[in-house]
Amino acid sequence: MTNNELIEKIKRLKEEKDAVILAHYYVDDEVQAIADYVGDSFYLAKVATNIEKKVIVFCGVMFMGESAKILNPEKIVLLPDETADCPMAHMAQIDRIKELGAQYEDLAVVCYVNSTAELKMHSDICVTSSNALEIVESIPNKNIFFIPDQNLGSFIKDKVKDKNIILNDGYCHVHHELSKESVLKAMEEHKDAAFLVHPECRKEIVDLAEYAGSTAGIIDYATKSDKKEFIIGTELGVMYELRVKNPDKKFYPAYDKQLCPNMKKITLERVADALENMRYEVKLTEDVIEKANAPLKRMLEY
Ligand code: SF4
Repeated sequence: MTNNELIEKIKRLKEEKDAVILAHYYVDDEVQAIADYVGDSFYLAKVATNIEKKVIVFCGVMFMGESAKILNPEKIVLLPDETADCPMAHMAQIDRIKELGAQYEDLAVVCYVNSTAELKMHSDICVTSSNALEIVESIPNKNIFFIPDQNLGSFIKDKVKDKNIILNDGYCHVHHELSKESVLKAMEEHKDAAFLVHPECRKEIVDLAEYAGSTAGIIDYATKSDKKEFIIGTELGVMYELRVKNPDKKFYPAYDKQLCPNMKKITLERVADALENMRYEVKLTEDVIEKANAPLKRMLEY
C-alpha cells in the first residue's frame, strides 16, 4: 500500500472508530503529519485530559500510552507498537525510593513523566522537562529524590541551590550519548548557528548551549529567535516541526544519528493496523490508575 493509500485508510478508520491520534515530536514526520495533536510530553498530557473521542491512538512509547490511560481510564488507549518502550522509564528502583523515604522525613519523590506507571505510583509529583524547574522550586519539601533521569535532575539541581536534590542513575541513551566532540564539530561547521539542547543531555553538552529546554521550548526558542541557523541537540524527529514553523531558517543536527529506535517503531502501517484491529490496548489495573494518577494530577494542577 502506498503512503497516500495508508493515509486515506487511517482517516476512514479514525471516523469509524471515533478515534483521535496523538503524536510525540520524536516519531517519524509522516506520522506527525497525520496526527490530530503533536507535541511534547507535557502538551500531550494536557491534551489527554480533554479528549472526547472514544479511542486514543498514542504515537509514542509505552509510558506515554500509560499516562493517557491513567488520565482517561474510561477510554480505549492504543499503542501502535506494543514493543515501543523507553528504557529510561524503568531506570529507578522502588527499594531506593523506600530507603530514602526512611532517611528523610520530608522527602518528595519528583518523577519525570518519562517513567513507568509503577514508578509514578511511588512518586509524589510528576514533572516534564517544560515544568520541572518551576515545580521543584515551588514544592515546600527540602529533600527531593529526582527520578529517573540523572541529567534532567542535575540540570535542575544546578539551578535550585537551596534544596537537597538527590540524583538517580537513570538516563536516556539517545541524549546521554551525544558527545562534546560532535557538538564542537557541528559548531565549527556552522559558526553562525545557535546551539539548542535538551536537558536530558549531559551537563558538559548543556553548558555549550545558548538555550537548554524541553522539545517544545526548543521549537519556541528557534521560532522567536532573530537568528537564522540552529544546531539541534535532541532527538531529530523535532526537525519536522522546526522546519514547518520556520521555513526560512536552517537547522542542523548536532549528531545525525540522534534517533530514538523506540519512537521510530511507530509507522503509518502500524497506526492503520492499530485502528483496524484495535491493538495494542494499554491496560492498567484500577489500583495502578488510581495511585499513578495522583502525581500526574498534582503536576497538571501546578
Ligand atoms: S528519546 Fe530517550 S527518553 Fe525519549 S523515549 Fe527514546 S529513550 Fe526514552
